Amino acid sequence: MPGIWVYANVSPGGTVEGSALECLTKARSIDPDVAAVALGPGATEAVSTLGRYGARRAFVSDDPVFVDHLAQPPAFALFQLVREHRPELVLFGPTYDSRDVAGRLQAMTGSTLMSNVTDLLAPDYAQTQIFGGTLVVDVALSGPDPKLVIVKAKAFEAEPVEGAPQPEVVPVAVEVPPELRRARRVERHAEAAAGPKLEEARVVVAGGRGLQDPSNFRLLEELAQAIGNAAVGATRAVVDAGWVPYSLQIGQTGKTVKPEVYIAVGISGATQHLVGMKEAKRIVAINKDRDAPIFQVADLGIVADALAILPEVIRAVQAARAG
Ligand code: FAD
Repeated sequence: MPGIWVYANVSPGGTVEGSALECLTKARSIDPDVAAVALGPGATEAVSTLGRYGARRAFVSDDPVFVDHLAQPPAFALFQLVREHRPELVLFGPTYDSRDVAGRLQAMTGSTLMSNVTDLLAPDYAQTQIFGGTLVVDVALSGPDPKLVIVKAKAFEAEPVEGAPQPEVVPVAVEVPPELRRARRVERHAEAAAGPKLEEARVVVAGGRGLQDPSNFRLLEELAQAIGNAAVGATRAVVDAGWVPYSLQIGQTGKTVKPEVYIAVGISGATQHLVGMKEAKRIVAINKDRDAPIFQVADLGIVADALAILPEVIRAVQAARAG
């Protein structure tokens, strides 16, 4: 039965990676007969979430082999599944694990793999952006099925379906051969983080070189805390300078965010930064240079010295929330 599949990263407890929910939402708008593939501990628990976002069928296995040995086992299992069921298209989120699986699957299927997809118009027709997001390119995907597509982060919005039925569960019974179990994950490090993830926060407060000194990022943290459900981000300039870790970087070579509100503080607005945040619903910019390019995308621009104005903004937000 052809159709669109979504490869969904899951974790114990049944949490589904946000990008898989975004892919399911997009996929069901093109073809209602969407299937999800979830491999590894938590897959069975994830079925109801997958259904809520549009999966009609869920191929699942809770076997730890799919996470203990990096991407070789899931790519192998996925290959067996696509050979048997022949979907037209498999969508992958942009996470490291998903990209690893997609690349390995392509080597086995010999089909077309397109990455950084910003929109999907049909199972064989996609769009991407080039030149720092200034040009949109249409791409026809040819060659044998399944086409393989890795979407750009936050290209689509995840939306649950009202009253969605439980998906049909198809157990995956693939025996992974010993030669695909040689690489073994020996340890996992979870990054310590307070507050929401940068990619999921409703408000992002981001800082650039205009903050003058790494210690001034404290002001952004205070502002994020005062707002609530907000995360702190940064430009590459300050990441490269070692002020903050790379995990905070937003832009072409960092993360893509799409919050309700993006507050850019001391950020010039280089194309490579804009490409990772310009889809925010509202953009507020604080910059002492009235000609800074960030003001061209800002809904609200404040021409001011960030170090002078931030304490006032923090106090105003705290007062507004208290009252
Ligand atoms: P600057 O450009 O130096 O801007 C600092 C701003 O602060 C200025 O506008 C200044 O007017 C303002 N300012 C100074 N003092 C104050 C003050 N007291 N109060 C208020 N405002 C003040 N960049 C990214 O961010 N993300 C990426 O992923 C990324 N990828 C890249 C990939 C490539 C291949 C290349 C070539 C570049 C990439 N860059 C990326 C770098 C990008 O081109 C810019 O250099 C970078 O975004 C600039 O960071 P910035 O705005 O912090 O610094």
